[in-house]
Amino acid sequence: MRSFARSLIVLTAGVLLAATPGGSPADDLRGFTPESAKAQRDWEAKFRAVPSPDSLRSYMRRLSARPHHVGSPYDQDNAEWILARFKSFGLDAHIETFDVLFPTPLERVVELVGPTRFVAQLREPPVPGDPTSAQQREQLPTYNAYSIDGDVTAPLVYVNYGVPADYERLERLGISVQGAIVIVRYGASWRGIKPKVAAEHGAVGCLIFSDPKDDGYTQGDTYPRGPWRPRDGVQRGSVMQMEVYPGDPLTPGVGATKDAKRLPIAQAPTLTKIPVLPISYADAQPLLAALGGPVAPEEWRGGLSITYHVGPGPARVHLRLKFDWSLKTLRDVIARIPGSSAPDEWVIRGNHHDAWVNGAEDPISGQVPLLEEARAYGELLKQGWKPRRTIIYAAWDGEEPALLGSTEWVEAHADELAAKAVAYLNTDTNGRGYLGMGGSHSLQRFINDVARDIEDPETRLSVWKRTQLREIADASSADRRREIRSEPDLRIGALGSGSDFTPFLQHVGVAALNLGYGGEDGGGIYHSIYDDFTWYTRFDDTSFVYGRALAQTVGTAVLRLADADVLPFEFTGVATTIGRYAKEVEKLLQDEQEQTAERNRQLDEGLFAAIADPHERSVPPPRQEPPPHLDFAPLQNAIDALTRAADRYEKAFTRAQASGTAFAQAGAAGINAALIRTERALTVAEGLPRRPWFRHAIYAPGFYTGYGVKTLPGVREAIEQRNWKEADAQIDVAAGAISAEAAVLERAAAQLEQLVH
Ligand SMILES: [Zn+2]
Repeated sequence: MRSFARSLIVLTAGVLLAATPGGSPADDLRGFTPESAKAQRDWEAKFRAVPSPDSLRSYMRRLSARPHHVGSPYDQDNAEWILARFKSFGLDAHIETFDVLFPTPLERVVELVGPTRFVAQLREPPVPGDPTSAQQREQLPTYNAYSIDGDVTAPLVYVNYGVPADYERLERLGISVQGAIVIVRYGASWRGIKPKVAAEHGAVGCLIFSDPKDDGYTQGDTYPRGPWRPRDGVQRGSVMQMEVYPGDPLTPGVGATKDAKRLPIAQAPTLTKIPVLPISYADAQPLLAALGGPVAPEEWRGGLSITYHVGPGPARVHLRLKFDWSLKTLRDVIARIPGSSAPDEWVIRGNHHDAWVNGAEDPISGQVPLLEEARAYGELLKQGWKPRRTIIYAAWDGEEPALLGSTEWVEAHADELAAKAVAYLNTDTNGRGYLGMGGSHSLQRFINDVARDIEDPETRLSVWKRTQLREIADASSADRRREIRSEPDLRIGALGSGSDFTPFLQHVGVAALNLGYGGEDGGGIYHSIYDDFTWYTRFDDTSFVYGRALAQTVGTAVLRLADADVLPFEFTGVATTIGRYAKEVEKLLQDEQEQTAERNRQLDEGLFAAIADPHERSVPPPRQEPPPHLDFAPLQNAIDALTRAADRYEKAFTRAQASGTAFAQAGAAGINAALIRTERALTVAEGLPRRPWFRHAIYAPGFYTGYGVKTLPGVREAIEQRNWKEADAQIDVAAGAISAEAAVLERAAAQLEQLVH
């Protein structure tokens, strides 16, 4: 799912392109003795010399040669080919299978039945000069996976992006979607949120279209002349309610093995409540043009050359959908390099291999660097390298429908992962430009250090320096520029969801990173038949030098995590970052208090009635009780405890690093065992309100945004939903998790202090 990954980079850009320092590479390597650091630097240099653009290109040509969605013949063929590659590199590898619910379309009808008639074609035509775009027999039709079956005819209403704020606006216009089919555009939320919110407001069907303003001709030339979405291009994609739980809808919390206990389909809570289908802007235009009612608010207007109206009607639409609800087999390809002295500490690295169609960009542009990394480890093994820890490489199946392959694997191995997983490093597509870094803040210092050692292929600066300069250029204030120039590390973005890191980070509490290059690429082929080898090699990382940079970046990170004497986690950045999140939720409550008071005052003044244009319908907003004050002291106290523990740990760590020998002592093993537990400590057994599968107290996808991250999610969402009692309880829950991390860290610091005495 690249939109995820891509939007991660874009969404976090403001935050993440908000960072950093005067960074010169440290002389020593964090977590290594001087002696082991020297050997490590040698191995890393050897590693980075291996990945080759030619290999990346040939892997991509092969893996994207035919459509390879879950359950298709070429999906299996690719899995077996990846397995053979891993084995040919000298790695121990196998395929692990799961059986999951994955619906595919049997019938799809969208027609305007009044006041005029129009039948949507729901088809992406082949493009001359692009051979794989003509593989129609194997292509999945355009659809949204996990929509329920349905047959509805109803008046149409346009609801912009279809997020909760759009419905509030609709209410002010005096318009209801009760009994209507809504048409919404892609963007601003995970797509599964759109039918969910529509159904909550009483809609009976949902159409999602790609507006040319968002990724079509408004942005640039359309394919094949340019990279942007052509008129008939459609964004396929899942609409499962993954913010409740991802993975197989029938086996929440357990691996979907052959004999797993399964829910009946009718009881699966993550399927949509109403039928939903994506359409192209060519198919959307006649439907939108047939709408009456008020003209759409200015920010709702897109790039089509029509006047956007809201409705309801007079346009009436017929939507009929029927799916094949059989189980399909997933094939995760898993390779393992056993650790020499700490085999029960695992560093895990993954990217998915399944696509919606040919998927050259999503996911193959991220999968091919993973293969080159594996080849490079094979080369190192031949030269006598042995990692201290176990390295696991995973090519996941079924990410596109619902993070299926990674979630089922994590659920099947949850106990072992909780005991052994050090970190999970994810990619999901790659492009040209700047290094996007998201993840657990305990890895912020670490990944900054790695980025300082990777060369940008365009400028020959380090990728770290280039990203820092980009952030300075984009900074919104002088204060921000000062921070970026003076802070030691670039701030990394927090992870919401949208790719395979989710089950590791948010279900089990494994520290995670999500990495990828981007910002100089762009286009509108996401999840269409045009995301293929021809498009990628014409418009994206055409020389595969950023593919090589990604292999060097992730491979170096894996190598360093696998070999460090003491894991290079850092916690003062964690404490600072969580402190910032706490200030944000306090501000959220304060804003809510001020806005409520102001709105109630305006209602008392008769403001809304006075300014309403009598020729247009408008409804004043509802009066609300002002929010009470909440006690954030438990949260602040926990953050203080974490700050103290982090400082103590960092002092001890610096002394041990400087001693030259401390990390080589036997006691280092106990410190690593404690460090592995620090991220686990941030999870809570009972999970988040309304979604117990999500257990991380600091990072979660939003319940009403779907992939955009909510930090301190329990507290934040309770405030957003004006549930003050729950907010109070969630402050205690978050404080408990943060205190638990502080306690683990105090123990690690004490152990570390022993080493230097
Ligand atoms: Zn993807």
